[in-house]
Amino acid sequence: MSGSSAADASALRRLPAVDQVLKCSPALLGAERHGRAAVTEAVRAALEAARAALRAGAPAPADAEGIAAAALAALEAEARPSLRPVFNLTGTVLHTNLGRAVLAEEAIAAATAAMRSAVALEFDLETGKRGERDDHVRDLLCRLTGAQDATVVNNNAAAVLLVLNTLAAGKDSIVSRGELIEIGGAFRMPDIMARAGTRLVEVGTTNRTHPKDYLGAITPETGLLVKVHTSNYRIEGFTAEVSPRDLAALAHEAKVPLFHDLGSGTLADLAAYGLIHEPTVRETVAEGADIVTFSGDKLLGGPQAGFIVGRRDLIAAINRNPMKRALRVDKIRLAALEATLKLYADPDRLAARLPTLRLLTRGAADLAALAQRMAPVLAARLGKAFAVELRACKSQIGSGALPLETLASTALALVPADGSGRRLAMLADALRRLPVPIIGRVEDQALLLDLRCLEDEAGFAAGLAHLELSDGTV
Ligand SMILES: *Cc1c(COP(=O)(O)O)cnc(C)c1O
Repeated sequence: MSGSSAADASALRRLPAVDQVLKCSPALLGAERHGRAAVTEAVRAALEAARAALRAGAPAPADAEGIAAAALAALEAEARPSLRPVFNLTGTVLHTNLGRAVLAEEAIAAATAAMRSAVALEFDLETGKRGERDDHVRDLLCRLTGAQDATVVNNNAAAVLLVLNTLAAGKDSIVSRGELIEIGGAFRMPDIMARAGTRLVEVGTTNRTHPKDYLGAITPETGLLVKVHTSNYRIEGFTAEVSPRDLAALAHEAKVPLFHDLGSGTLADLAAYGLIHEPTVRETVAEGADIVTFSGDKLLGGPQAGFIVGRRDLIAAINRNPMKRALRVDKIRLAALEATLKLYADPDRLAARLPTLRLLTRGAADLAALAQRMAPVLAARLGKAFAVELRACKSQIGSGALPLETLASTALALVPADGSGRRLAMLADALRRLPVPIIGRVEDQALLLDLRCLEDEAGFAAGLAHLELSDGTV
């Protein structure tokens, strides 16, 4: 004990001066990359950390080169973006926690151009007068949905809030008890209604709601009939709901607008691409809904946004609501949205150009061949510590769209040779620490890497070179 403290005391005395550390090559590199002020501060912090460690009897670098290396490592770690690209191999294509839709190249190019320059955001180039930011997507949205008018806000939650506040504040909004949904991230329909200042009037029961339930609730105080697409769950068995068409007829008879929150909503008929049919926005408008809301970054495959389409007079009222200003989108997203919407004009090439659709429709043979190519790469890197097996699995669409639908896919299953759960957790951890983290999912004592969303094979393979398990087995 006393021997080691004596050694520590001498190490403490021998700690280099700041100036000395700054002359070492890691510090020079650090200054070049991050500036002199930052590197000086990092060296001071590294010296302070070494001093504290040595005083506590813990090992620490004590020479100038070692301190400089520690300072550089700290600078590099700090400089790394917090919001970083990852490989989404979870099997959930629209993963809310991983940023939902990956954008099309056309959208990326448009957003980049808008970032780099002034744009005619609210400026009419024909007349030289003031324009409206909605003008850039209004016609496109009307054409794609058959609606009379359209506007766009920050996300679909904002769209719902704005619709309810504009059309039903101080009045009743009638909703079936089977549709009072909660979406992840604390979006609950009853809470949003309260915040929008409308009175929620629940009708029917959880599993069955009939036309007479709505009819019995309509009074002069009614502002809206609300239909919510139960996007993230399904009620099955002894059920009844009023179809959107019948509900529209009933609403119009009572001279009350029908608001349909579609959630994901799609502009393309997914059945045409071999997927399950999900109600399109066009169908929902045609069924008689007066206002329809849907997300930009779910099945539509664009940036985060909330669309509101429907009757011209109602959209005009929504645009007059001062809340609209607080919920509007910026030029970058608007540029990406316009470019994304334009892709829908060419359905033949949509699945090739729109990543969301491309990933959802990726064929079994394609995925199996990809797995064959990637398995040896992983096996070579993991050595004897893990077996790499090809495994059939199911991907999900995600973001609440078509919750019960799964897509046949192929995963690489990484199975610890010793069957240890600790080793498995260590591997998941090491994959998350890669320069481009790889995110999989644990299932049946294996780490599954669902390959559906893997497009950058070379980047994936190159990244594995940095893989290091904390127990040194890889
Ligand atoms: C996802 C969803 C929302 C919220 O949309 P965001 O774009 O995530 O804000 C609202 N309603 C339904 C039915 C949804 O599925």
